[in-house]
Amino acid sequence: MRSLIKNQALIQQGSFINGQFVSTNYHFEVTNPAKNVTLIQVAEVDAKQLNQAVESSSLAQKSWQNVPAQEKARILRRWLTLLEENHDDLATIMSLEQGKTLADAKAEIAYGNSFVEWFSEEAKRIYGDTVSAPAADKRITVIKQPVGVVGAITPWNFPNAMITRKAAAAFAAGCSFIVKPAAETPLSALAIAYLAQQAGLPDGLFNVVVGENAQVIGEVLTTHPLINKFTFTGSTRVGKLLTAQCANTVKRVSMELGGNAPFIVFDDADLEVAINALMANKFRNCGQTCISANRIYVHESVYQQFSQMLVERVSELKQGDGLEPTNNIGCLIHHQAAKHVHQLVAGAIEQGAKVQIGGLPTAPENAFYPPTVLTNVSHGDAITQAEIFGPVLALIAFDDDDTVLAQANDTDYGLACYFFTQQLKRVNRFSEQLDYGMVGINDAVISNAAAPFGGVKQSGYGREGSKYGLDDFLDVKYLCHGAL
Ligand code: ADP
Repeated sequence: MRSLIKNQALIQQGSFINGQFVSTNYHFEVTNPAKNVTLIQVAEVDAKQLNQAVESSSLAQKSWQNVPAQEKARILRRWLTLLEENHDDLATIMSLEQGKTLADAKAEIAYGNSFVEWFSEEAKRIYGDTVSAPAADKRITVIKQPVGVVGAITPWNFPNAMITRKAAAAFAAGCSFIVKPAAETPLSALAIAYLAQQAGLPDGLFNVVVGENAQVIGEVLTTHPLINKFTFTGSTRVGKLLTAQCANTVKRVSMELGGNAPFIVFDDADLEVAINALMANKFRNCGQTCISANRIYVHESVYQQFSQMLVERVSELKQGDGLEPTNNIGCLIHHQAAKHVHQLVAGAIEQGAKVQIGGLPTAPENAFYPPTVLTNVSHGDAITQAEIFGPVLALIAFDDDDTVLAQANDTDYGLACYFFTQQLKRVNRFSEQLDYGMVGINDAVISNAAAPFGGVKQSGYGREGSKYGLDDFLDVKYLCHGAL
């Protein structure tokens, strides 16, 4: 892979602890899923290094909290500049280890950078309050202080942005940050940590611990007494486990977990707008996003027309190696993922779904799964209950508003949902009554640094990005001045 990267210092093969890249005797492989070949070996973090990561993080945080906000902002801006200067290399590294197309990878780097930019600005905008006191000789002041050392675990679907969205907010708030990226995609994490150091971020403030043994690393990040807060992006199953692990030391916890996004197309929807939004939403990163439309409810009066238009658009997608610029959809994270997606499709067919395009199993050891449209799916079929995490659209017909509202809310998840209508009354009703943290109204491309990203129900709690994104990294302290 080295021959494809201009800035060789971006390729690192061990954890980044207290300003140094470190090695161990045990290495794991990072592979390119598109070609099913090994890219590079990376050293698995050991117990001693994990401890050093936490201790150096704790020390670094104590100094960082006293650095003036303007200086924190300046360092974040320098980091942003370096991330921008290395944009193409970072995107290539990501496409290689993750399988997404170069265009998707470039878009993710830009998205990831937008959080560094946003929080470089927010660093200067942390406010407290003065509050009317209940007695003449008292004064109440409220200040906000960094929570301290933050432990994080992030997934492979967005190897850059899921880290910058948390880390930049943590640094802006005055926290230090230790992250375990997914073992599938450690290279993107190590590269951005290298650039943060080059930007002048003090040693120990940003540590990256890499390894395949997620349980061992996760145990340290969720139980170490020096870690004050834990933040996770990943599956609901693992999120529950890690939340429980945090209980013993009563850490502040935030969770960005799975979704099961309904996408509702009403009879009065602009179908062109809805299809454009669905294509952008669903096929980005080959359907491997937690806000990906998972259940497509289409009013029966436009069902036929909508599915025909959709199949036509899906047939234009060109799938293949993400590094090939003519391809606009890549592969899944590994061949087991392709197998899993096909199991869901096969199950849906057994329950009565009709394949309009795609739907065929891929060869063993092959991480590509074809873009697929299924019609004749019913609410409650297994495929509508699972997070598909692949390029499969399951179309369900509906005939009235009450039913589709109940069906859209009939899930333990509550991350994102989307609906398409021109009717103001419907916009109001569905905006308020859909039980989700994020609602796309005639839109399904909703993530950006200015907006609060996060879910309700078993999709988690806490918000990332936006003016709310700092709150998860700040403690509120109340000062009571007496005898005045
Ligand atoms: P996904 O299905 O997207 O891989 P996971 O929740 O399995 O979602 O993984 C998200 C992150 O959680 C990854 O970094 C993974 O290594 C980590 N992870 C998975 N299982 C555990 C665990 N038991 N303890 C700690 N981290 C875990």
